[in-house]
Amino acid sequence: MSDEDKRELLEATDVAKQAGSDVAAAYGDEMQSLPAQARVTHIPLLGHRIATTGFLVHEDAHYWLLPPRHVYRMNDDGIREPFDLAMTVIEAVTRKACVKAVIHGCVCRASFDCQNYPQDVGCMFLGEAARGVPREDGLMVDVEGALEHVRRALDAGLVPTLAWEWDMMLYGGKQNEGLAVCFCDYCHCDLRLSAREGTERFRRKFESVPTLTPFVGAACKLCGTCSRDEVCCVSAISQGPESAEIDASVCIRCGRCADVCPEEAISFEIPAGADVVALLMAELGAVTDLTGPAGEGSAS
Ligand code: SF4
Ligand code: SF4
Repeated sequence: MSDEDKRELLEATDVAKQAGSDVAAAYGDEMQSLPAQARVTHIPLLGHRIATTGFLVHEDAHYWLLPPRHVYRMNDDGIREPFDLAMTVIEAVTRKACVKAVIHGCVCRASFDCQNYPQDVGCMFLGEAARGVPREDGLMVDVEGALEHVRRALDAGLVPTLAWEWDMMLYGGKQNEGLAVCFCDYCHCDLRLSAREGTERFRRKFESVPTLTPFVGAACKLCGTCSRDEVCCVSAISQGPESAEIDASVCIRCGRCADVCPEEAISFEIPAGADVVALLMAELGAVTDLTGPAGEGSAS
């Protein structure tokens, strides 16, 4: 972390602590135990403004979205096969993590009182950094408990995001010993809102899962649904002469356009021979160690 980033983080923490304690009373007992710094980024208006300015983003943050549907892998015969990317990746990181904690609720959906997606499906924190999660905020779980939580999130239509950011330090852990798995919605998730309205600095924090490429197929009827402003939070879609076109260098692979396409013309492809999980695990391994002193896959 650079000196400038440290200074920003310290200043933001001071601001957040004050604002967080001001707001704690308004949010009631159920929010009291959440760290003030986290809470303040999820307060409508104030928190969103802090998030969208990139105030709390430092150079070390990375986010990988995992589209839960419409993902295909090419086999060696050149045929597309459905691939459950989200569950496969999350199961791999969960089995590797020494500690797994499921947070009781989503602070984004709770603070905006989201009625579209469940407020009681929260993030999952993995690795040694998750050990400090207090019982008031979350539960330590084993692999099966973690995967059950993930299935519930996927069934609710939420989009998993691997988030490596300063959130991990809120519970006293080290950033390079943890990873958060957020379950984002399309309406109240701070990450998506910030991708839409935030700074370019913030948008650069979104990584692409290696080799995963958005694809518009021949079924496209140029209906225009996917390029509506409210669909793509980074404006990566335009209407070309023969089909919709996605700028893969801008797209953050959220899967929203594929979900709304009435023709099911949009999908995500993994080329033949690419071991996408191994490639992604290598990227994660370069920034964080999930095994910790307790060892890979230990129960808690
Ligand atoms: S929503 Fe589907 S059919 Fe309509 S323009 Fe987009 S890709 Fe084409
Ligand atoms: S084009 Fe936009 S809506 Fe579609 S997956 Fe990429 S970021 Fe999401």
